[in-house]
Amino acid sequence: MSSILKTYNRKNISFKKGKGSYLFAQNGKKYLDFVQGIAVNCLGHSNKTLIKAINKQSKRVWHVSNVFTIPEQEKLAKRLTNKTFADYVIFQNSGAEATEVAIKMARKYFYQKGMPKKNRILCLNNSFHGRTIATIFASNSKKMIEGFGPKADGFDHFNFGDHKDLEKKITKKTAAIMVETIMGEGGIKVIPDFCLTGLRKLCNEKKILLILDEVQCGIGRTGKFFAFEYAKIKPDIVPIAKGIGGGFPIGACLVNKKVASAMKPGSHGSTFGGNPLAMSVGNAVLDIILKKGFLKRVQNNGLFFKRELEELKNQYPKVIDEVRGKGLLLGIKLKTNQLKFIKKLLDNNLLVVKAADNVVRLLPPLNVKRDEIELALSIIKKVCKGFS
Ligand SMILES: *Cc1c(COP(=O)(O)O)cnc(C)c1O
Repeated sequence: MSSILKTYNRKNISFKKGKGSYLFAQNGKKYLDFVQGIAVNCLGHSNKTLIKAINKQSKRVWHVSNVFTIPEQEKLAKRLTNKTFADYVIFQNSGAEATEVAIKMARKYFYQKGMPKKNRILCLNNSFHGRTIATIFASNSKKMIEGFGPKADGFDHFNFGDHKDLEKKITKKTAAIMVETIMGEGGIKVIPDFCLTGLRKLCNEKKILLILDEVQCGIGRTGKFFAFEYAKIKPDIVPIAKGIGGGFPIGACLVNKKVASAMKPGSHGSTFGGNPLAMSVGNAVLDIILKKGFLKRVQNNGLFFKRELEELKNQYPKVIDEVRGKGLLLGIKLKTNQLKFIKKLLDNNLLVVKAADNVVRLLPPLNVKRDEIELALSIIKKVCKGFS
């Protein structure tokens, strides 16, 4: 019997090694891994560049406190700000922490401006921002908050796609709107570009901040470095995590100069956040993702994958309801039982993960090969046939 607290319904399967898009299980089977630690291993398993980087750093220095200057951290922050809207970066260890500091910065910004009552964050119902006390109440899904009261105050909610509801929920106390650019756990729900543009405009008009949670959809996942780049807008605060560490736990929050000015020494901190070991991996991830042509290939593979999935939807309309997503953040909304469908894919050596709304998420590594996408498609097709 396991001594692990039962907060997951784990599959009885474990792995002895991974290589690129594949995982090799203890039971001898070879799986095509389109989970990749839920969009974490953005360069697949056992990536040579990442292994080299972490090995090299591990022989120098693993961890020093943030009371000292950490050159690897300076370098990664500089590269992230050069590449994006942001002027400053603060490093954490996870997505939830990155989102927490986003919330803290939004509140502190208005506090410093002499508006301490402007401290509420407007979020989407059934979103996902992490599992800390603050972020579960930001997310507001019943499954996540039930039993964990008292409710953390300071969050309001509106419904996805409901512009009227959104405008109605903005009050004088609203400090920021915080949404995932693409809702991952919530079922790969993409906020259309024109809505993102509208959201930015609305925030400008109401003088509130825009926080875009790119923990899942950022770092090249959609074929742009950030998913919001498609809409050509600039948010104020962006939490990231998952992909930036390529499998090593890293969280970070990116912020513009205006908002950053409110944070002072002592305003926030982290013991582990941004340690040299983590930063060496983060820099190696960027070495690959920022290479010329890399993101273009993600776009092309994403378009190919999505087009072929649409084709399967047309062939099996009783099985697939809708194909969602952008780049290599894709989901198929099923008409059949999601868990049974995922089990069948597993039986055929394809690993995928569920999302809300009866959606099956497909998260190949960003450097997935075309023939691996084709293999996944043939397995999905076979399973669709079995369900129709
Ligand atoms: C995964 C995720 C988080 C939480 O990240 P953790 O590292 O699990 O804390 C937050 N926001 C989004 C959009 C995520 O997908």
